[in-house]
Amino acid sequence: MTILQETPLQLRVIGEPRLLAGLREGRADLQRHLWTHGAAPELTRADYADLTTAVGLRGRGGAAFPVALKLADLPQRGIEAVVVNGSESEPVSRKDRLLLTMAPHLVLDGAVGLAKALNAPQVLIAVHDGAAATSIRAAIQERQDHLRIEVTDTPGRFVAGEARAVLSVLEGGPAVPPGRRVLPTRKGYHKRPTFLSNVETFAQLAVLARLGSHQFSSTGLISEPGTQLLTVDGAVQRPGVIEAPTGIPLETVLQYAGAPTDGPVLIGGYHGQWLPRPDGIKLSRPEVPVGAGIVLALTADSCPLGEVHRVAQWLASQSAGQCGPCLFGLGALVDDFSRLLSGDPAGWHDAQRHLGLVPGRGACAHPDGSARFLASALEVFGEDVRQHLAGGCGRAVRGLLPVPGGIR
Ligand code: SF4
Repeated sequence: MTILQETPLQLRVIGEPRLLAGLREGRADLQRHLWTHGAAPELTRADYADLTTAVGLRGRGGAAFPVALKLADLPQRGIEAVVVNGSESEPVSRKDRLLLTMAPHLVLDGAVGLAKALNAPQVLIAVHDGAAATSIRAAIQERQDHLRIEVTDTPGRFVAGEARAVLSVLEGGPAVPPGRRVLPTRKGYHKRPTFLSNVETFAQLAVLARLGSHQFSSTGLISEPGTQLLTVDGAVQRPGVIEAPTGIPLETVLQYAGAPTDGPVLIGGYHGQWLPRPDGIKLSRPEVPVGAGIVLALTADSCPLGEVHRVAQWLASQSAGQCGPCLFGLGALVDDFSRLLSGDPAGWHDAQRHLGLVPGRGACAHPDGSARFLASALEVFGEDVRQHLAGGCGRAVRGLLPVPGGIR
């Protein structure tokens, strides 16, 4: 695999640059954007349906939902808005704010092009990063899209990035998901049909519209062609965002980022899963839970259960507090892990019990994702559990997994 470019901005490309093309010198204003990518073609709704079906494009926010199915679920008329979810509240992810900051016109091309094809009267962009918001607002001023485009600042809490929490903020409400799970395609912005997806999805649509399905499929997997953005962090020498073909071996990404060769790896972020050794794993959706494209490496000399406990405290603090199993269940799991770490076998038993009770009982996926992350830790770090129950693993908690707020 050839490394084609590396910038001082921690943007790196393995293989062919697409979303990150032309960013070597910095942010792409409209002139540089057009010079790099050319003018955006005007496509119809049928064109978008055909293209996204042909390449099997999936949303890049975490759920990996097929874009073509989302388009097909929209009614033929009365689509209220196209919503760009740039909340990126997973604390490790950097890719969406990077696109908004460095390649705002690519994101706008994808959103505006689709809105026009759907006859939607407006594009609404939710952003929680100050630099990203400034960049996208400046980009809107450079263009003449003849369409209402609004940028709304959202809070940085984990659940504030959930689709229905984003819609609530855009409507002037609180940044929490409402009680019922309803598809935005049916009842979205002001309960009207809405196409909502994350920032990278719109950038991918802009690239797909220009390249067409054949050229778009010239890299990556046959089943999910194209490239993907990955945020690599933790115990790596070169953290940052990497654009790589879909299906790239995880081992290649880790080597390129300078990860240790002997530590465990978390993929998919703090709703993701642990892998003891990444041998033979290829990064593609939906076979591997890549989520929002996050890869976190640990060293073998840091206590993984202690690292997980730090993240569990943060996850519990992010509950919106409106669903009992989430509010009390995640808090109980933090306590369970705390007791397990200090050698109490009841902590392990209670964790197993609570992990069976929490999923599927909240109004959003936060408890499910948090439980998945913790259950995966207990499974993969079984030997570490035994060591703690026998008196301790002897390793320090080095704080290699980033958590906001300074949890120790
Ligand atoms: S499950 Fe948790 S985070 Fe989700 S809405 Fe309920 S209380 Fe809030």
